[in-house]
Amino acid sequence: MIQQSPVMRICISCRKTYDRKNLLKITKDHKEGIMFQKGMGRSAYICKSRKCYSDSKIKKKLQKALKTFLEPEFIEIFEKEITSYNVLTNKGI
Ligand SMILES: [Zn+2]
Repeated sequence: MIQQSPVMRICISCRKTYDRKNLLKITKDHKEGIMFQKGMGRSAYICKSRKCYSDSKIKKKLQKALKTFLEPEFIEIFEKEITSYNVLTNKGI
């Protein structure tokens, strides 16, 4: 039997390790700029716990991880993205 081991990534906020499937990926794409769950370039992962994504320091942490400047609007888009992602993945539970 072949057992596929999950790809583990660290949440940039709580520093805990999770299966990549349970994290929201934020990528600074070379061409498109900041993207969620797709794109090529420097990436950061964040878990879906409210404590993490609503952390007041999250923007700073992301800027550091992605080595980029994030627009003030970013955090609004980010919160929408992660909450809709939560709804999607929590379906049926
Ligand atoms: Zn976390």
